[in-house]
Amino acid sequence: MKRARKRVLVAGGAGFLGSHLCERLLNDGHEVLCVDNFFTGSRENIRHLIPNPYFEVMRHDVTFPLFVEVDEIYNLACPASPIHYQFNPVQTTKTSVHGAINMLGLAKRTKAKIFQASTSEVYGDPTVHPQTEDYRGNVNPIGPRACYDEGKRCAETLFFDYHRQNGVNIRVARIFNTYGPRMHPNDGRVVSNFIVQALQGNPITIYGEGTQTRSFCYVDDLIEGFIRLMAAPDEVTGPINIGNPGEYTIRQLAENVVRLTGAKSEFVWKPLPQDDPLQRCPDITKAKTLLNWQPTIHLEEGLTRTIAYFADQLGVSLA
Ligand code: NAD
Ligand code: UDP
Ligand code: UDP
Repeated sequence: MKRARKRVLVAGGAGFLGSHLCERLLNDGHEVLCVDNFFTGSRENIRHLIPNPYFEVMRHDVTFPLFVEVDEIYNLACPASPIHYQFNPVQTTKTSVHGAINMLGLAKRTKAKIFQASTSEVYGDPTVHPQTEDYRGNVNPIGPRACYDEGKRCAETLFFDYHRQNGVNIRVARIFNTYGPRMHPNDGRVVSNFIVQALQGNPITIYGEGTQTRSFCYVDDLIEGFIRLMAAPDEVTGPINIGNPGEYTIRQLAENVVRLTGAKSEFVWKPLPQDDPLQRCPDITKAKTLLNWQPTIHLEEGLTRTIAYFADQLGVSLA
């Protein structure tokens, strides 16, 4: 008989997305083992989960083997923002590649179902718009973003080879830009940067002309997509885009943040980082048809919730 309560490993569980996933899995009645080396994650993100007797935290680096007994694995361990993944690029590639091998080896031995947090960055600076899963991407293999993009591409290769070669039950999600409470305030990502700058009355830093686009998904919507992908029939391996197709220029995002915070911040223009993608928007037809999933939280609502979180963190009172 199948046990309803599953033992679920969340690698990278103390990070932004991981902490929300741990919380959701505990709320759904599962046992959660959060594995993290605390490179970009923090105890603060999971402090509220510690009293739960079904929650366990293990300090561990996924580039080393891990022997535990689990039913499901979510592999989210990897620094995700350009500042963090470029801090030690060799370690970033190792985390994606060796981390995937170890998590897949663990899945193979325990016969656990395993989920990979892949990324829209596998499409690089895309020449197809919006991006469908069959688009093979336009990644510079030797640029400063390559440690992340190519590491994630290789991890996808490993997932599909373990699936074909060893029959491992895999789920690969290509995640597009996601935002919400518990984003790292200093990781340089655009939503956290703009909100923190606006709340502190500092200038909003727009890179390039601000005409590049991104599509922003609120974290709760994203986690619902993860859960549905994991619960889908075994033939639904992905890769499958999970993101919000609402597309905005970076300038529009800045204007929204200024309006919703009531900030007096002005805009300052900074150089566009190398290999910064010009546009990004998911085609989510597959997620809609195979998972019956689509985002429900509009940018304005999600930003309002995220602004409230950062205001609380920074001790700023909103008018
Ligand atoms: P995050 O940096 O907040 O979380 C990553 C977590 O992994 C952190 O807790 C970090 O300490 C941990 N970690 C890093 N290297 C590790 C290692 N070697 N061993 C064990 N733990 C390690 O980032 P996030 O935004 O929560 O992203 C989670 C996952 O989702 C990442 O794999 C990322 O690539 C992917 N993703 C995120 C986004 C996004 O917009 N947030 C978009 C696409 C993909
Ligand atoms: N591995 C792990 N935990 C396990 C099983 C395997 O960390 O429970 C690691 C193992 O150390 C190996 C990797 O996963 O480095 C790949 O395992 P696999 O069995 O595929 O390969 P092999 O051990 O044959 O190299
Ligand atoms: N960006 C910006 N100002 C900032 C931080 C980022 O204009 O203070 C831009 C960045 O150049 C990119 C977009 O916002 O075009 C999204 O950046 P982020 O690092 O959040 O995500 P990614 O580039 O990985 O999608």
